[in-house]
Amino acid sequence: MAKAASAPCPICNRALADGSPAPFCSQRCADVDLGRWVTGAYVISAGASSEDDPESSTPNPLDIDTHE
Ligand SMILES: [Zn+2]
Repeated sequence: MAKAASAPCPICNRALADGSPAPFCSQRCADVDLGRWVTGAYVISAGASSEDDPESSTPNPLDIDTHE
């Protein structure tokens, strides 16, 4: 197995230099990725309602059985 080639920076696609904050080529790119991640996390948490109770929307099989 060959020596693992370092993947390019996922932000700007540049090769990583020694001392780079892997997996990013620079702290700036790391900050860009962190900003994207945080923004995405906020969007996800805002879209998913924590008040939605999955149990209340699930029909009770016993209720269906006694419908006859
Ligand atoms: Zn970069």
